[in-house]
Amino acid sequence: MLAEKKPADITASTPTGDPWLLTPGPLTTTPEVKQAMAHDYGSRDHHFIDINRCVREMLVDIVHGGGDFTTVPLQGSGTFVVEAMIGTFVPPTGKLLVLVNGAYGQRIVRIAGYHRRAVEIIEVPEDRPVDPVSVERALVADAGITHVVIVHCETTTGILNPVAEVADIVQRQGRRYLIDSMSAFGALPLDSREIYFDAAVASSNKCLEGVPGVGFCIARKSALDKTKGNAPALTLDLYDQWIAMEKTAQWRFTPPVQVLAAFHKALEIFAEEGGVDGRYRRYAGNCHLLVNGMREFGFQTLLPDDLQAPIIVTFLTPRDRRFDFQDFYDRLRRKGFVIYPGKLTVAETFRIGCIGAIGPDQINAALDAVRKTLDEMGVTDCAAAAKPAKPIG
Ligand SMILES: *Cc1c(COP(=O)(O)O)cnc(C)c1O
Repeated sequence: MLAEKKPADITASTPTGDPWLLTPGPLTTTPEVKQAMAHDYGSRDHHFIDINRCVREMLVDIVHGGGDFTTVPLQGSGTFVVEAMIGTFVPPTGKLLVLVNGAYGQRIVRIAGYHRRAVEIIEVPEDRPVDPVSVERALVADAGITHVVIVHCETTTGILNPVAEVADIVQRQGRRYLIDSMSAFGALPLDSREIYFDAAVASSNKCLEGVPGVGFCIARKSALDKTKGNAPALTLDLYDQWIAMEKTAQWRFTPPVQVLAAFHKALEIFAEEGGVDGRYRRYAGNCHLLVNGMREFGFQTLLPDDLQAPIIVTFLTPRDRRFDFQDFYDRLRRKGFVIYPGKLTVAETFRIGCIGAIGPDQINAALDAVRKTLDEMGVTDCAAAAKPAKPIG
């Protein structure tokens, strides 16, 4: 048994005695969500079938999808459903325009490569949003592009991409639009009545605050209906999963039943909090508090505030030689907070998340832990080193 021994200097912990997760997921979940997993469910039993139906309906409601959209859930982490979306929606004869400004856009390019789909790439640096004008130019120049895929919030930096502006361009140019909304879904608005898309994917364990194990695709039925035979793998075939689920109300293969029960509870809590508006408000509050507090210590954010989504914040590593990220991480961990390393090529950074079952009390306690940690390490200068002229790493 891997029970954690509490170190002497621990100052904070969740109701289950764990450190708070200030990461982009998996996240701290509520006791109610964890409690929902303390049962066994038969996958062909009506109780689980009801849970599954509710989850699918609640997810369509989040995008105001009405009768035009359906939810196709899929076992696995978020990447599995991203891969399923690309393979199912982009036919072997299609061509995918991938808008890249971070690691998750890069990953979609790799996925398209595995599936041997033709790709066009527009890449901008990680600290810049996707440029809608360049998308329009690319679509006008190449009539062969059939699909465009965008990452809603690029979790690499926490940058918000202009999903709505690009949607208008893609629709005007008569192409199909796919969205990786993994780290945004549920906290940033994605209203299908305003943003025209064929498919958007996310997972149970980010802003909807469930546990990991399920991804889902919110799909326009009329578009999904035309995808038969596209998918390069049975397990990743969203068309087949959809048809089977409509016919039998059941999953094709063993569903992660406890994960879905927890997800159902998480969606009830989400609705009680006021849906997307309520969740956005809490996360935006967390983000403001975090950024202001860190700036008071002298830290600098990678992004200007107008590009920052309230999901995860990238801070530049201080130039003070006494600052060592691993030491900083370990000391915060012992005080009850888990943060996240950086994943950038443009600068040395680390990240702190604003999402999960956390609020101002946890952010204030985390800031207090940061202050104590800086004192312990003797770090006095939290300003960043000048940006390297060339990309690092
Ligand atoms: C988390 C995330 C994914 C999926 O990552 P997994 O580790 O497979 O869950 C995909 N795209 C974005 C933008 C993400 O933030």
